[in-house]
Amino acid sequence: SLKAGIVGLPNVGKSTLFNAVVENGKAQAANFPFCTIEPNVGIVGVPDPRLHVLSDISKSQRAVPASIEFVDIAGLVKGASQGEGLGNKFLSHIREVDSILQVVRCFEDNDIVHVNGKVDPKSDIDVINLELVFSDLDQIEKRMEKLKKGKAKDSQSKLKEEAEKSALERIREALMDGKPARSVTLTDFEKDAIKHLCLLTMKPIIYVANVAESELAEPGSNPYVKEVMNLASELQSGIVTISAQVESELTELPSEERTEFLKSLGVSESGLGNLIRATYSLLGLRTYFTSGEKETKAWTILAGMTAPQAAGVIHSDFEKGFIRAETVAYDDFVAAGSLAAAREKGLRREECVKLFREF
Ligand code: GDP
Repeated sequence: SLKAGIVGLPNVGKSTLFNAVVENGKAQAANFPFCTIEPNVGIVGVPDPRLHVLSDISKSQRAVPASIEFVDIAGLVKGASQGEGLGNKFLSHIREVDSILQVVRCFEDNDIVHVNGKVDPKSDIDVINLELVFSDLDQIEKRMEKLKKGKAKDSQSKLKEEAEKSALERIREALMDGKPARSVTLTDFEKDAIKHLCLLTMKPIIYVANVAESELAEPGSNPYVKEVMNLASELQSGIVTISAQVESELTELPSEERTEFLKSLGVSESGLGNLIRATYSLLGLRTYFTSGEKETKAWTILAGMTAPQAAGVIHSDFEKGFIRAETVAYDDFVAAGSLAAAREKGLRREECVKLFREF
């Protein structure tokens, strides 16, 4: 499944948020085919009301949501890119995730020490951003050295090396300016040529502004949140406001009391749902469903994937041996009430090797 890495300076609320994620995952565990959760990995289902509607129509024995794996990458501190402490190990963990969630402290609490002495979202974001930038710069320098020597064997690989060089030169310039690699406009060919480097600042970041529970209903009134919003748009990143404290308290309540608790705070939904949705939208992810008596299941694909690629998410054999897929748009299926009825009305579609449409 999709991997999101939680990073942030010490004492900003990472473990509080991560533990809430794990508790949430445990509560849903009955729906999941997997049960082993490593100490720093938590898996949660992606909330999607369509899953249950489909499952009811098909009288499925179970409904399996799409899932996101949250990885707690604690220990990313100033100096990580210089290999201080365990720094480099943490950076290599970040290399493996699809997106980064940086928890940023926006709550005041004199009892909880801030590493820099005061709540300062800009400095928190700069510190982590710089570590990622340094690490990328270092990697690019090394790669450029190799590219200088490297003699491509044929014209195709020569073209690719040229594209890589040109892309890396522009990225290096942006990084020197403190800007992330993702801010550089690249062609698809260039993107492909540098993919193997897994640059850290290429990964989408969502800033998770951790606010006091009293501010959850109106996060905009918190000047720290405003600061994070501005930085997020500058750095082409997403932002989600949550209260890690509230998420943690929610997991201790029986489910029937949760709605009431959220209402008392002036919000209608837990922040975790928002966080998952933001991750989905930032990564350009889409969902399709398979639905039958045995199970209704949500599958995650990237926007723009072809039908065979989408089928390959279920099993790689489906991609290799793909002939065609029979699909029905969600609204059509629900309106018709069954696959047979949808077929009769001619609402069934056939997807061959063309682009997969949004359901
Ligand atoms: P980490 O070092 O980033 O993993 O931070 P922790 O999750 O351990 O949190 C550090 C301290 O801040 C703990 O005592 C938490 O209870 C507290 N904390 C976390 N989130 C909030 C919050 O939203 N409001 C308040 N007041 N305290 C919080």
